[in-house]
Amino acid sequence: MNMELIEQADRVLAHTYQRYPIVFSRGRGATLWDTDGKQYTDFVAGIAVCNLGHAHPRIADVLAQQARVLCHVSNLYYTLPQVTLATMLVEKSFGDRVFFCNSGAEANEAAIKLARRYFHAQGKADRHRIIAMDKSFHGRTMATLSATGQDKIRQGFSPILEGFDFVPYNDLDALEAMVDTRTCAVLVEPVQGEGGIRFPHDSYLGAVRKLCDDNGLLLIFDEIQTGMGRTGSLFAYEQCDVTPDIMTLAKGLGNGLPIGAMVAREEVAAAFTPGAHATTFGGNPLVTAAAVEVLRVFEEEDILGRCVAVGAYFRERLLGLKARHECIREVRSRGLMVGMELAGEGAPLVSACMNRGFLINCTQGNVLRFVPPLVISREEVDGLIDCLDELLKGF
Ligand code: PLP
Repeated sequence: MNMELIEQADRVLAHTYQRYPIVFSRGRGATLWDTDGKQYTDFVAGIAVCNLGHAHPRIADVLAQQARVLCHVSNLYYTLPQVTLATMLVEKSFGDRVFFCNSGAEANEAAIKLARRYFHAQGKADRHRIIAMDKSFHGRTMATLSATGQDKIRQGFSPILEGFDFVPYNDLDALEAMVDTRTCAVLVEPVQGEGGIRFPHDSYLGAVRKLCDDNGLLLIFDEIQTGMGRTGSLFAYEQCDVTPDIMTLAKGLGNGLPIGAMVAREEVAAAFTPGAHATTFGGNPLVTAAAVEVLRVFEEEDILGRCVAVGAYFRERLLGLKARHECIREVRSRGLMVGMELAGEGAPLVSACMNRGFLINCTQGNVLRFVPPLVISREEVDGLIDCLDELLKGF
């Protein structure tokens, strides 16, 4: 173990993370290696980021090529990769316009600002409240932590931003009761990720859409974790037959390059006029060239088909584990967005898996979360299942 580096990190890095004592030096596909040469199969993928796997050769080539010609110019000018990426996202989604930024939180910031400005532009500035969900996660900036329905995320940062109301996920009556004349939008994840891989009931998102239409509200889908193929379609909204007015993306969009995007319908996007919103690095040619290649790989290497097939296999194998181990309460999955709820704490299992060369994650204390690269193989899934089978005997 590279203790010197870990000790140095503990001296110089802000203590915002409880890190595991591993120093990673390289990756390939769904495999990572630490500086001791120990190999890990990665079911975390940077938390649903490296959907095409680590060090994808095509992304690496495009990055190297782009870095040699142009990394950055101001958004005062145009560049080909940014326009190409926006065109692809518009063609592949409900959206008409795209705003690029650098992270998920920033994409949600843009969505929150756009929703408020949309009503402001109509002379309805008092319509500025956004209804979000309990156990949601939308980011760590002041606006997005204010939109996040988890007290622990907000602790110590008061006063939080005014204008957010919360209702339980999947509770339509509560949502309906919360809407008033000051509401401008509903912000929801099509599947709650950090909230414990929680799925909406079959009719829920459709009913939310109808409620928004009946009350003239905007519907914002946070697809930062569910987007870019994670649930088996490029965007999760495609599977529930509901179209939002605004969608936010980040994570898998750049396969590890920091990029976020807010996609919106024309009429809504029109509320952002020159000077209304901006960010220096947003959509620069380096990151957008990578994201363009990500989308091309999705098409040419049938990433969605692979995700659906391996996702179904993974689910079946986890259900097999559930039949053998009483401590497993529930398996919840769509594509390769997979959760396994345990009767007890998940942290000891995460550490035990790590010691055996499998990286997994735990959210909400007792939900094991598996969000591997979408290119993970059945054999790699088998490896994890065998490991969990063994470990769960003593759990
Ligand atoms: N929204 C969702 C649904 C997320 O899962 C995350 C990150 O986990 C975010 C927003 C925040 O994204 P970022 O960490 O890139 O700011």
